[in-house]
Amino acid sequence: MQLLRYKVKQQRIANIFISHLHGDHYFGLFGLLSTMHLQNRSHDLNLFGPPGLAEILSIQFKYSHTYLSFRINFHELDTTVYKKIFEDNAITVHTLPMQHRIACWGFLFREKPKLRHLIKDKLPAFLTPPQLIRLKFGEDILDETGNILVANAEVTSEPSRSRSYAFCSDTRYQENLIPYVKNVDLLYHEATFLEELCDRAVHTCHSTARQAATLALKAEVKRLLIGHFSVRYKDLNPLLLEAKAVFDNVQLATEGKTVGILE
Ligand SMILES: [Zn+2]
Ligand SMILES: [Zn+2]
Repeated sequence: MQLLRYKVKQQRIANIFISHLHGDHYFGLFGLLSTMHLQNRSHDLNLFGPPGLAEILSIQFKYSHTYLSFRINFHELDTTVYKKIFEDNAITVHTLPMQHRIACWGFLFREKPKLRHLIKDKLPAFLTPPQLIRLKFGEDILDETGNILVANAEVTSEPSRSRSYAFCSDTRYQENLIPYVKNVDLLYHEATFLEELCDRAVHTCHSTARQAATLALKAEVKRLLIGHFSVRYKDLNPLLLEAKAVFDNVQLATEGKTVGILE
């Protein structure tokens, strides 16, 4: 319903990553899959999730007599260590170890290095399409004798930056995460409580706003996004201020807000 409300095109969703089996993280999934079916989705959907998720879904489909119009490729997450679980031409996805009351996975999304940009008005007219592609990959164009005909640096510019995003929820504060999320452009880290409830955070395997910010600081990430706030906080400003006192470049993840990976 939120995807509809915020006009996210469901047909463009190719991969879904579920962190763990607490209800607040996947109870909407069955509804979403059913809606995709009602909209006659025909292309495959990749679903990455904990052991048990496939069984839960198949029971729901069985008793609702739902025979999906599309195929779900279920990828069961088998270990909570750092591991590559997805790769295409543009990105890789690794799992991140969370520490929670039940098995829980974070996800690290990284764009692969991008191709160099061609500077159109500097390109000699005689270049062929294969030569243009070689230039994008950073090669010089040579003549038959092996001399440089077109120097790469003169006709191309630096590629766009490859972005990175780490999703860390739900988890207690744990510094062994730092090497995996070091320098990412955007870190989403849960911040369920204020520091005054840090005992409760430890007990329930959640984090405080100050802890999320401390992790961002120590991992030298570019920006921090905090979320997963306890419903007890009607006003979220104290959570933002508490995080800001430790790490300045922080935003609240609130419903409906669009946050770019880069600013
Ligand atoms: Zn949870
Ligand atoms: Zn949760």
